[in-house]
Amino acid sequence: MAIFEYRFSVSEVVSAFECEMHFYLKKKGFNVNFYYGSSNVGTLVHKVLDRFAKDFMEPSLFTAMVSTDNLSSLDKFIVEKLYSILYYEAKEAKNINKSHEHRKLNADFELAWKQLEAMAVYFLEYSLGRSSEEITNAFMYSEKHFELPIIDSVIISGKFDLLMKVQDSIKLIDYKTRSEDIENDIIQLTLYKLGIERSIKKSVTPSVLYISKSEVQEISFSDEEVEEVLKQIKLKVAEMIDCLEGKRKPIRMSEPKVCQYCSARKLKICSSKDQ
Ligand code: SF4
Repeated sequence: MAIFEYRFSVSEVVSAFECEMHFYLKKKGFNVNFYYGSSNVGTLVHKVLDRFAKDFMEPSLFTAMVSTDNLSSLDKFIVEKLYSILYYEAKEAKNINKSHEHRKLNADFELAWKQLEAMAVYFLEYSLGRSSEEITNAFMYSEKHFELPIIDSVIISGKFDLLMKVQDSIKLIDYKTRSEDIENDIIQLTLYKLGIERSIKKSVTPSVLYISKSEVQEISFSDEEVEEVLKQIKLKVAEMIDCLEGKRKPIRMSEPKVCQYCSARKLKICSSKDQ
């Protein structure tokens, strides 16, 4: 059995492309992270969509409650299901947060609901003209862990959002509640695709769903794009190993647009020179 000396998460690999120093500090044990806005909403939406997919995978629950021949019944089912899960999750969050945070939670709830309404339209469009059996079988896995050996001595681990059957193909879906960031998202989706294909032994098409208040925009990546990005990932991972082993110095990005979100700057662990 292969022995893997290094274990990286998918988000750590993505962070190495954003800033090698950030990656290096994290792997050396510093508590550094990138903090982007509206993470509460993103977490809430992800939790709801995970629960929703898992409920869909329960044929008894789904077929007992909805007639797929009737469009308004299906629409009502999807919307009510998403709303009830959101309500439950938001209530749970309120229980663990202090009262002065309630106002913020209400705003998060409103924004999360707008995004989930956009996802309801996406799921409804997918379900049109399909039997209840096809719909319940469509949701294959939600929030599943995988491991992927990437180069000698390095294994990548991660968790993808959703695997869904669409006609004869299998779609690997990642939800994003922020604006487009194709450069980073294709790195993430490449690793997810290879990780899940290794596990299920079938080819999958990676897609990102950018969920906004009013719509869901879907972007899929081709095999050629994935192959090209994989070469870059292998190179970057090898360079990072050299950094960790002291054969090369990690490069500081020093870009205000990246550094402003990095906790290393606030913690004064990194004094990026342009800041
Ligand atoms: S502050 Fe900027 S240069 Fe320093 S580790 Fe963070 S992202 Fe990199």
